[in-house]
Amino acid sequence: MRIIDVHTHPILRLDRRGRKGAAQLLARAQAHGIEHVVALGDVLAYGRSPTEAQLRKINDDTAWLMREHAGFVTGFCHLNPTLGAAAVRREVARGVARGFRGLKLEIANNASDACMQPLMEEAEQHGLVVLQHAWSMTKIRERRFHTDPEDVATLARRFPRVQIIMAHLTGCGVRGVLAVKDCPNVFVDTSGAAPEAGVVEYAVAQLGAERVLYGSDAPIRDFGVALARITGAQIMAAAQRKILSENTRALLRLP
Ligand SMILES: [Zn+2]
Repeated sequence: MRIIDVHTHPILRLDRRGRKGAAQLLARAQAHGIEHVVALGDVLAYGRSPTEAQLRKINDDTAWLMREHAGFVTGFCHLNPTLGAAAVRREVARGVARGFRGLKLEIANNASDACMQPLMEEAEQHGLVVLQHAWSMTKIRERRFHTDPEDVATLARRFPRVQIIMAHLTGCGVRGVLAVKDCPNVFVDTSGAAPEAGVVEYAVAQLGAERVLYGSDAPIRDFGVALARITGAQIMAAAQRKILSENTRALLRLP
């Protein structure tokens, strides 16, 4: 079985191990049969709205991971759209030069905010995939900076030529799947919260297996648990193969 993990954070200052912790995490990924990971960066290392200098540190760590584990790690560039167009364009240029394949948005702003415009233009111009943090916000009063699946759908309709990964299928849930169903440029990764029976099956039924991507959010979630969401789902073997590796390989044009 071939496996690519589209959502990992190999360096997490929270666990106080820094770059040393990354090697251990990636060894654990390999022990689970994972052949490639997407590293999204230590996105909350400096809080929810990092400065340009802080973003550079986060993205330098991701670039280091790509060099240190060449062929095993693909990096996404973490950005803070609220810093403005010039800062966004500078950091995207640095990321593209280093071979990053996507842009990672966390909780600096809501995905439907106007400040997303320059970043989405850059994504389209450079063929970068946008991975947007998302969670069903019906119960949390932080939508000012926390993106709901409805906001991902708004973003996707404004920029139909940009491929978007909506993070956290389990956090987005049934209503999240329905929110992006009519947006063919939105994929969903299977991370988020504890596994819930039936959610992966529901996403496959509504979106098609082609739009579902295996992601763990490791080390926040364990690889074994994250993989079992897919291997334990009542779906066809061909759908499992698509979710576990084929979709992400095609989306990121990996060898
Ligand atoms: Zn994450």
